[in-house]
Amino acid sequence: MSTPEPKTNFIKEIVEKDIRKNKNQGRVHTRFPPEPNGYLHIGHAKSICLNFGLAAQYGGLCNLRFDDTNPETEEIAYVESIKKDVRWLGFDWEDREFYASDYFEKLYEFAIKLIKKGKAYVCDLSADEISETRGTLTKPGVESPYRNRTIEENLDLFRRMREGEFPDGSRVLRAKIDMAHPNLLMRDPVLYRIRREHHYRTGDAWCIYATYDWAHGQSDSIEGITHSICTLEFEVHRPLYDWLLDELEIHHPQQIEFARLNVSHTVLSKRKLLELVKEGYVSGWDDPRMPTISGLRRRGYTPEAIRNFCERIGVAKMNSIVDLALLEDCLREDLNKRAPRVMAVLRPLKVVIINYPEDRVEEFDAINNPEDPAMGTRKVPFSRVLYIEKDDFMEVPPKKFYRLAPGREVRLRSAYFITCVDAVKDPRTGEITELHCTYDPATRGGDAPDGRKVKATLHWVSAAHALDAEVRLYDTLFLKRDAGDVEEGMDWKTNLNPTSLEVLTGSKLEPSLKGAVPGSRYQFERLGYFCVDPVDSSPAKLVFNRAVTLHDPWSKIKKAGKENE
Ligand code: ATP
Ligand code: MG
Repeated sequence: MSTPEPKTNFIKEIVEKDIRKNKNQGRVHTRFPPEPNGYLHIGHAKSICLNFGLAAQYGGLCNLRFDDTNPETEEIAYVESIKKDVRWLGFDWEDREFYASDYFEKLYEFAIKLIKKGKAYVCDLSADEISETRGTLTKPGVESPYRNRTIEENLDLFRRMREGEFPDGSRVLRAKIDMAHPNLLMRDPVLYRIRREHHYRTGDAWCIYATYDWAHGQSDSIEGITHSICTLEFEVHRPLYDWLLDELEIHHPQQIEFARLNVSHTVLSKRKLLELVKEGYVSGWDDPRMPTISGLRRRGYTPEAIRNFCERIGVAKMNSIVDLALLEDCLREDLNKRAPRVMAVLRPLKVVIINYPEDRVEEFDAINNPEDPAMGTRKVPFSRVLYIEKDDFMEVPPKKFYRLAPGREVRLRSAYFITCVDAVKDPRTGEITELHCTYDPATRGGDAPDGRKVKATLHWVSAAHALDAEVRLYDTLFLKRDAGDVEEGMDWKTNLNPTSLEVLTGSKLEPSLKGAVPGSRYQFERLGYFCVDPVDSSPAKLVFNRAVTLHDPWSKIKKAGKENE
C-alpha cells in the first residue's frame, strides 16, 4: 500500500538537531519499554512505530525492553504476546531484547552510590505517613525524621532491607532532594520498597523492588539510549529523571514526551482492558472488538494498515481523541487493493428463477479484484435457486431504494438481469420466504444487448453450491465517542455497547471459499472486508469476522431518515 512519505514532527526536529551537533556522537538509540502486565493496544502501536521508526530513519537502533519491576501483575505470557505483536507489526529488535529485571543488581549498586553521596536515605515512615508529609502544591512538605541518618547507617539498613530482615512496607529508600520543591515528585521520592513478591523472572531473589522512576531512567542509561520517548504524563517526572542521572554521573539520555493516543469509542488502558477480559465482557484479549493488537489482528487488520494509521495521526504535544473512522479507513485502503472479492450472502433470501431449467448449472467468470488484474478471475456457479441478501428486496420500496422490488429488474453480479414477479409469504407470519423471478438469457454476463439499464447490481450465491458459515458482525465497543466520559459515581463500563457483537449463523458463501485459510481476508462484495477467524474457524465450520464495512451510501441515507426525499 502507499505508505505516506514520513512526515516531520517535533521529535524528529530534536533528533536532527542532536545529530547536527554530534550529540551522543551522532547516535540515535531508542527503546520501546512495555510493562508485561497486559497485551499491547493500538496506543502502544503508536509508540512502537515512533521508536522503531526513528531508529530506522536515522540509521540507529531500537531496543525492546520489558519494564518489569512490578512483580504482582507481570507474567511471562504477556512477554510472549508483546514479542509476537511487535514482530507482527513488522519491527525487529534483533538481539536487543532487554529486561529491567536483568538490571536489578546494577540498580542496587547505583542506589549504594547515591547513598554514599548522601543523596538517598532509608526512611521508616509508612506509605500513608510519607504521603501525608509530602505537602501540597501550595504547602511545602515536612522532612522525614529519618532524613539525616548517617551514610553508614543508611548503607547498613539498605543492605539489610535487601537481605529480608524487615517486614514488607516497613522501610523504603528515598532520594534526598528537597521537601519544599515545587514539583511534588522531587520531594524525596521513594526509590525502593520492600515487597515479598515472586517475580516471574527473578523468582524470590529479591524482596526489594525499584519504583518506576528509579528503574526507568537508569535502564535507559545502561542501554545507552539517546532519546527516551514517553507519553505526556511523564513530563512531570522529567526533573527527577534528570536529577537521578546527574547525581549518578552516568550516560544521560534525553526524555521527550508526546501525547498518548486516544481513539474514539474505545479505551486504551491495560487496566481497563484487563477488567473487560476478567469480567467476561469480551471473549479475551484478542476479542475482535478489543483495541489490542491481537484483537485487531483477529478482526482482520493488517500491519500495513496500522502502521499507516500511526503515520497519519502524527506526533504532537496535545492530547486529543482520534476518530476510529480514520483507523477503519486505513484498513479499507489497504484491503481494497489486496483482498480478493467474493460473493457471500449474510442474511439469505431464497430466489427461484422460474424460467431457468431445473438441472442446468452455468459457471461465470468473476473478477477477483478490479484494482489488480493480476489477481485474475474465478468460476462462480449459477443455477435455478439462488440466495440474495434479505435487505436487497423491499415489497414497498421507498423512492431511493433501487434494489429488487415487485416488477423491478436488477442485475445479478457477473450473471444475468432478473425481474421479480412474485414474493411468496409465510401465511402465518406474513414474512417473505422466497421470491420468484425471471431471467433474461440475452443479458448473460451482466449487460443487455438492447442497452437497457438497471439501477442496482446485487450479489448472490447459488443455493445448491453454497457453503454455510457463521459471520460475526461488530459494532463499536463503547457507545460514546469519548468512552471515558461517565457521570460522576457511575462505572466506566456503563458506556459499553450492549450490541457490539451480532452473530449470524446461516450465512451462505460462494464455493470458492472452501478451504479459506484462517486469518485470510476477503472483500464480500457490497458488504465489507471479512477475515477467516483464526481461532474458531475450521474446514467443517467456517467463521468469518467483519473487519470493516464498505462505505455504504444507502445505509447513510437510511440513518439520516432521507429514504423518500
Ligand atoms: P496503559 O496506560 O495502557 O496501561 P502503559 O503506559 O502503562 O499503558 P506501558 O507498557 O508502560 O503501558 O507502555 C509502553 C510504552 O507505550 C510506554 O512508553 C508508553 O508511554 C507507551 N504508550 C502506552 N500507551 C500509549 C498510548 N495510548 N499512546 C501512545 N503511547 C502509549
Ligand atoms: Mg506504564
